[in-house]
Amino acid sequence: MKPADFTLSAGPTTCSSKTLAALGSPIVYHYDPMFIEQYKATEAKVKAVFRSSSDLLLMQGEAVLGLEAAGRAVVRPGMACLNLSSGVFGKGYGDWLRAWGATVHEIDVPYDDAVDPSDVERALEEHPEIEVVAVVHSETPSGTLNPVAEIGPLAKAHGAITIVDCVSSIGGMPFDPDAWQLDICIAGAQKCLSGPPGITMMTVSQDAWDLIARNPEAPRYSFLSLLDWKIQWLEGGKFPFTPSVADVHGLEACCEEVLAEGLDNSFARHSRAARACREGVKALGLRLWPRSEDIMSTCTTAIAVPDGLTDIQVRTHVRERYGVMISGGQGAGNLVRIGHMGVTANTMYPVVGVAALGRSLLDLGVSVDLGAGVEAALAVMSQA
Ligand SMILES: *Cc1c(COP(=O)(O)O)cnc(C)c1O
Repeated sequence: MKPADFTLSAGPTTCSSKTLAALGSPIVYHYDPMFIEQYKATEAKVKAVFRSSSDLLLMQGEAVLGLEAAGRAVVRPGMACLNLSSGVFGKGYGDWLRAWGATVHEIDVPYDDAVDPSDVERALEEHPEIEVVAVVHSETPSGTLNPVAEIGPLAKAHGAITIVDCVSSIGGMPFDPDAWQLDICIAGAQKCLSGPPGITMMTVSQDAWDLIARNPEAPRYSFLSLLDWKIQWLEGGKFPFTPSVADVHGLEACCEEVLAEGLDNSFARHSRAARACREGVKALGLRLWPRSEDIMSTCTTAIAVPDGLTDIQVRTHVRERYGVMISGGQGAGNLVRIGHMGVTANTMYPVVGVAALGRSLLDLGVSVDLGAGVEAALAVMSQA
């Protein structure tokens, strides 16, 4: 099959040429002093991208590894946890918590909505025994955002630690673990950093380490062990196992790029691309998936598929006829998503996404205003 001309997916997304070059740099011995130096420099850059003063861990596997490892480190059977579910990833975390034996309280909202902090406050008041709050910041599959800035301090005041999935937030939207009093934050590089998909980035606060230290179930000598990384690497300077050298190089390159640009500039760029995409979609005459624009994430635009069609039909047509790869909803509903992450949160990419989607729907018999859609997206991108 022919490669896509444009990858406007919701991650993994298009990598920059610098990151690609870094991924192709020589594979070196992981205890070569030069690699140790690069590894530490990479950690420092990732910490700067997170804007976090907590401990930073890089784990050798995509972000799901970090999400599972964080939960396993913290949760013991019978522990009361509050899971906030507003989408596919939030829902899945609750299933994990139950599988690990936690007593799970859940706030469950439809997948086009966001969690209300006053519901979190009420749940914490009703259940003083809750020790952990799990939440997804940017629910990528449905393009929504949870108010983690408000949820973090509520959990902290209650004495609970937070496990925050910020996989698609980092680099693309304001995220402030220190100010928001968050404990464990897990991200991936293949979303708004336009990096490689094989590495988890995680920050762990002292409160989280204290809770982990009291958990006899926390894995040791395991691929899933946070404690191995703390004791062997952070405290002992020895890797628990061989890091993926190429991924570390790729991660360093993509972090360097976003830091050189300036994080705030990157956030503004993502937000403008998202605005262009939304305006374009609305002018086509389509419906945005999230209930309201104030809960929309800026890394991806979720669009309801018109009646009579499925997301697979639409995505397949867009890819085959126009060479543009967009995403489905990963089970969140009958929707398609145009990603604007990292490299693709820029210049003409949102316009390409709107044009390819609009023309595909016309081909499939839906009446859309293609010219108005393209013009509306361009109008946003042409603003000074
Ligand atoms: C992409 C994503 C994940 C999964 O991460 P992978 O590294 O792709 O496995 C988890 N949560 C959110 C919110 C995501 O966007």
